[in-house]
Amino acid sequence: MTEKKQLRQREDVPEEQTWQLTDLFTDTAAFNLACEELIGQAHDIASHQGTMLHSADELYTTVAAYFRAEELADRIFNYGEHLYNSDMTAAAGQSASAQAQQTVTAFNAATAFVTAALPHITSTQLADFYQKNPKLRRFDFIFTQAQQRQAHILPAGEETLLSALGQTITAPESIYNKLNNADIDFGTMKDSHGNLIPLSKEKIYQLYQSPDRQVRRTAAEKFATAYAHSAYTFAEAWQQHVHTQNTVAQLRHYHSAREMDLASQFIPESVFTTLVDTVHEFLPSLHKYYALRKRVLRLDPLYAYDLSVPLVGEAPLKPTYEKAQQWALAALAVLGDDYVQHLQEEFGNRWIDVAENTGKLSGGYEEDAFGVHPYVLLNWSNTYRAASTLAHESGHAMQSVYADAHQPYWYSQYSMFIAEIASTCNESLLNHYMRSQFQDNHRVQAYLLTESVEDLLNTIFNQTKYAEFENYAYVTDAQGDSLTPDKLNDKTAALDALYAGDDVAPNPWANNSWARIPHYYMNYYLYQYATSKAVANTLAKRILTDPATAVPQYKEFLSAGASDYPLAIVKKAGIDMTKPDYIREALQVFDQQVDELAALLDVE
Ligand SMILES: [Zn+2]
Repeated sequence: MTEKKQLRQREDVPEEQTWQLTDLFTDTAAFNLACEELIGQAHDIASHQGTMLHSADELYTTVAAYFRAEELADRIFNYGEHLYNSDMTAAAGQSASAQAQQTVTAFNAATAFVTAALPHITSTQLADFYQKNPKLRRFDFIFTQAQQRQAHILPAGEETLLSALGQTITAPESIYNKLNNADIDFGTMKDSHGNLIPLSKEKIYQLYQSPDRQVRRTAAEKFATAYAHSAYTFAEAWQQHVHTQNTVAQLRHYHSAREMDLASQFIPESVFTTLVDTVHEFLPSLHKYYALRKRVLRLDPLYAYDLSVPLVGEAPLKPTYEKAQQWALAALAVLGDDYVQHLQEEFGNRWIDVAENTGKLSGGYEEDAFGVHPYVLLNWSNTYRAASTLAHESGHAMQSVYADAHQPYWYSQYSMFIAEIASTCNESLLNHYMRSQFQDNHRVQAYLLTESVEDLLNTIFNQTKYAEFENYAYVTDAQGDSLTPDKLNDKTAALDALYAGDDVAPNPWANNSWARIPHYYMNYYLYQYATSKAVANTLAKRILTDPATAVPQYKEFLSAGASDYPLAIVKKAGIDMTKPDYIREALQVFDQQVDELAALLDVE
């Protein structure tokens, strides 16, 4: 374990390592003025409430003004968030963020009627409007999507009732979050030096990587025990969430919560079932990897708490931020000069807030400001993981750059379903490039292959397993059965056994791991990690083997933004997500990498 290093103060971070927020607003006065302007625009838009569907011109004026204002709202939100996240202890960021949130909330409340009205336009009315004001066609795909939701919108009175119950509908999630973040107590344990340490989730995940097996086991026991203490409450919160979602789906005339949640992005349910079925085909490849782990670590039996120990010992690559930029530029050069040029702009023009400092938000993210440029937050450390995160967040940023250049604002914000494709495709390209650079270094090869294999394992196999569990809960509730802790534990044990195979021994006391996963409250969100990663991995492979075909298709995908249905946009990149082939291609790469890793590490 590394010593906690002394963090710098924000004002001591060199300027070139901070993001240029003046690209959004030159100073606080300009930001304040923009907030006032947005409120003024919201009032103007609100004056069309009740009349916006009266004529083609009324509709055009209202919708055009709405998107113009929303673009400004985005910029205001970006400014407040980024300033706050740079140093959450600083008064300037706190007040800008509060002001941005207040302003944007007021804007949203005053203009919510605009999007709410769109599903009520009939196709005859729309055809008539197009004739009277052809400029309305600019928003055609917005209107089309709204009309497709029409069958699931309830009469006004019922919508009002449902929205009044909004807080009650999300109550199980709030209760879960309080339990899982505030009430839960993991206690303390002794580390390998005999020091008593207080436990948190982050600390436990760190301890899972300890070479000392007793430390790993104790950490796992502490983790499971903490959840076991409140097992009935965790199960009840989950059951109530599932039941509420099933009820809402029924009220909105869907056959199931799954149909409803996938329909929010126009995804057919076959995408979900194809994922599960195809991942099952490749479970033998996953079992092969666990068997390798068992041999290399010389552990028999191998338990779940042994699965995070590094196979190669200490990480062999320790790049500086400058080095990582060079790697990214070289690894992504296959995507063309234009792509590299945009990356250079990102690196050179202070789109990225690089360094760690006191009070800064942890982790990393990308957020686009249309008409300005994307912003990226990092917390740099000299590790391969950090270099991979730089490539990942730059993938998001580049998708924003291409989408913004080719789409109007209202089609620029790509959907959640496709958001993690460009980012994880870059991770795969970086990993491939690095392996080509260290061909003669077995340790680095093994390290990079392990990173890639673990990444595919965590995103494709594990997220599919979680998605299966989630689906089980919804189906069980829909059948009128209750979700008791025993039932949830049994299902977890069965899925763990199916995915892990014979080489990972069961840990009955750890079967309550379902209670740890907050994403279960995000309504069929997890499967998208798996589908995105499978698309990304397959794309990376095609980009490397047939760039002449794959790269132009990939640029079309990046440039499409939200101008079409998510599946149609992925199809522009050459991938049909209604068929299993893209998942097979991705998992064949996994299988092959496990073999390569075995050739490097095998101890037999
Ligand atoms: Zn991401």
